[in-house]
Amino acid sequence: MEKRDYYEVLGVDKNASSDEIKSAFRRLAKKYHPDVSKEPDAEAKFKEVQEAYAVLSDETKRKQYDQFGHAAFQNGGGNGGAGFGGFDFSGFDYEDIFDNIFGGFGGFGGSGRSRGSRPTKGNDSLVRMKLSFEEAVYGTKKDLDLDVIEECDECDGVGGFNETTCEKCHGSGTITTEQRTILGSFLSKTTCPNCGGKGKTYKRKCTNCNGSGRVKKRKTIEVKVPAGVDNGNRLRLSGKGSAGANGGPNGDLYIEFSVAEHDFYVRDGDDIYLETPITIAEAILGTKKEVPTLFGNVVLTIPEGSESGEKHRIKGKGINNESSHHKGDMYIVLKVVTPKKLTKEQKKIVEMLRDTGLEDSETRKFQQFVSRNN
Ligand SMILES: [Zn+2]
Ligand SMILES: [Zn+2]
Repeated sequence: MEKRDYYEVLGVDKNASSDEIKSAFRRLAKKYHPDVSKEPDAEAKFKEVQEAYAVLSDETKRKQYDQFGHAAFQNGGGNGGAGFGGFDFSGFDYEDIFDNIFGGFGGFGGSGRSRGSRPTKGNDSLVRMKLSFEEAVYGTKKDLDLDVIEECDECDGVGGFNETTCEKCHGSGTITTEQRTILGSFLSKTTCPNCGGKGKTYKRKCTNCNGSGRVKKRKTIEVKVPAGVDNGNRLRLSGKGSAGANGGPNGDLYIEFSVAEHDFYVRDGDDIYLETPITIAEAILGTKKEVPTLFGNVVLTIPEGSESGEKHRIKGKGINNESSHHKGDMYIVLKVVTPKKLTKEQKKIVEMLRDTGLEDSETRKFQQFVSRNN
């Protein structure tokens, strides 16, 4: 069963004062005390309330819990027995990839205890990667820097040195406490707040991890970006997410791509459109024109009488999509450019052209319509 949030268990909010926590505990302890409660699962609920109180009533434990959640106390026996819980990415902020920090959280083989030692898969993580147009089209390899939380090397993840048996619980990890309520006193077992259930304490706290057994580390992984990824596409890297707890598998890392626009090429799926300017003379007379494609230049024959907006397909010269194994096409879109400045001589030539009577059937028909309409 999923462990409930301690604040939720006590029904208080995160900023609750110690008095509020205490009174919430009193109220719930009374409600669920197995000797008096008629609620089903009273005993389990009572334990849950006690455990929550044991943590939230202790300033240090509460801080650890606020920082790491339940993972702060899921320590297994033996060296490196810290089991880490997940990390919530729901509030994850998309920044430039190289500024991203996301936690990882390793279950470092904690198997010594039965409680809280169920293998759990690590959480999935999501980061955004910026790509140039070319990187997306041809594919690339990119290093991705990630900050992950890992076991502290200095203390092997236990948080300190010179291990001693916890004097509060004498190594059992649990303590029997006497709770006085208005219903009388009763005894109950709770996780030892002194050692967090480990049964051990350390004479010298590890300064590298400040006793937590965990440190943030920068890791670099190489990401192979397949050719043809587009804006918003996600790549799943299996097992590269947060580390699982208690030997559970890692979560997955999802990389979402953000692809920059190209100065000339316009992408539509795997097809590429390229607006290609031609002169009036080229449009009238036709020409052979060298045009750039993703795979080098090709020579395109533009027939005489071409017009703006006409498309010429160059088959297979679009994006060669590695994921879908689909090959896109390239489209050359003609744009007939009317010159804005002419020399005297050029102007004369165009005037001569005009005077030769350039009308074709289309312009003639339109002219007839204008006359009729008069
Ligand atoms: Zn203890
Ligand atoms: Zn350490």
